[in-house]
Parts: sequence; structure tokens; C-alpha cells
Amino acid sequence: MDLARSLAAGAALMTLIVAVRYFAMSGVFAALTLRRHPKAGPAADKRPAQVRREILYSLLAAAIYGVPAGIVGALWQARGWTAIYDGAPHGFGGWLALPVSAFVFLFAHDTYFYWSHRWMHRPAVFARVHAVHHASRPPTAWAAMSFHWTEAASGAVVIPLLAFVIPIHLAALMVVLTVMTWNGVTNHMGWEIYPRSWVAGWWGRVMITASHHHLHHRHYRCNYGLYFRFWDQVCGTDKGWASELLPDHAAVLTH
Ligand SMILES: [Zn+2]
Ligand SMILES: [Zn+2]
Repeated sequence: MDLARSLAAGAALMTLIVAVRYFAMSGVFAALTLRRHPKAGPAADKRPAQVRREILYSLLAAAIYGVPAGIVGALWQARGWTAIYDGAPHGFGGWLALPVSAFVFLFAHDTYFYWSHRWMHRPAVFARVHAVHHASRPPTAWAAMSFHWTEAASGAVVIPLLAFVIPIHLAALMVVLTVMTWNGVTNHMGWEIYPRSWVAGWWGRVMITASHHHLHHRHYRCNYGLYFRFWDQVCGTDKGWASELLPDHAAVLTH
């Protein structure tokens, strides 16, 4: 197969994978939400229309995410033109390079997300682009990839570009993509998946969970981060987390 056909096939296959992964993850967590927290589920009020909109935007985003990722994957397989490697690690750090590179990818993605997210909250940009994500009030598990196509495109190129410059093992890259998917879904469910002891402990001080991101959807001008609270804490935009989302709290927010 020539390179152009490999790239097209890679883009199509990856779009399919991202879409199936989205339906699987969001579907499981949306069902879990209905079972465990019916008030946070789509049946509570007028949410079916919101869920339909979240799914349509997410499917468009699946193609936008899938195309650059598929092209990078095809280039790696056909030409080895990326910094991705597999097999036994032979370079600097040995196996230790795997968690280190995964962390570097996540931190770089988080940094990009934080600053571009703050920029998208400038009134003119918000109205044209980011309002799509915030139209979900509160978001559901189906909102994991519910972004305007411009925002999806700006986020879709980050991991593929990093894969050209920072050496990463295929397994570590899979971990990065899994964390990305996990956070996208669990942070938008309207309930907290981690126990209170985690959220109130070191995990919640460092990592962003649903209780933290929920405040971004409620107040807009705070809690902009993606994976880590680091930039919010450094820049004074961290407003903590919504304790009413914690597992042992009786009420689940519906506003
Ligand atoms: Zn969000
Ligand atoms: Zn926002």
C-alpha cells in the first residue's frame, strides 16, 4: 500500500476507534449514572435533547481527533517517522522512561489545555467556540468530547505533535490516551467516582476529578485545568471542589 492510502486508512480506522471508545466509555458511565444517581441522569428533566447534542458534537470531534492520530499511527508503522517505539526499552532510563514520558505528555497536554482554555473564556472566543461545551448544564457522561469543531481541532493535534518530539513507548502512549478518555468521561458525569478520602487527600489536591471540574461548569472563571490542579493553583484560579458531589453526600447536583 502506498503512503497516501496508508494515511487515509489510518485516519479512517482511528476515527472509528475513537468513536467506538467514546460510545463504550460514555455509554457505560451514563448507564451507571442512571443506576446510581438517577437525579444526575438524562431522565431527570429535559436532558434527552442535551444528550443528543452532546453525542452529535462528540461524534464530529471523534473524526477530528481520529484523523491526526491515525496519520501519526500510519506514519509510525509505514516509515517510523515518529518518536514512538515499542518492544524492550533500550534508551535512556530503561523501563523508568515509560512512566516519566507518560507524565511529560500529560503535563504538556494539561499546560496547553489550561492556557488555551483560559483564552477560550475571553468573551468573543467563548461566544463563538467554547459556548458549545458549556451549553451542557450540568454536563453528562456523553459530554466527554462535546466541543465546537475549532476547539476539538486545537486539542486534537497536541498528543500527535508531541509524539514526534518526545520519545514514548507505545504502552505509555496507550496509558496517556486512556487517562485522557477516563478524565473526559468521569469529570462530566455530575457525580464523583472517587471516595471522599481520595478527593480530600493527596489525590484530590493534585488531580482534577468531577467535583473539581463541576465548579468550572458552574462558575466558568475558575478550575480551568484538565488533569492536574497545578496551573490553577499557581495562577490563583483554583476554587477547590464541590463537596456536594462526593459519594456520601445525599444530593446530586442537577443545576
Ligand atoms: Zn467540561
Ligand atoms: Zn470552560
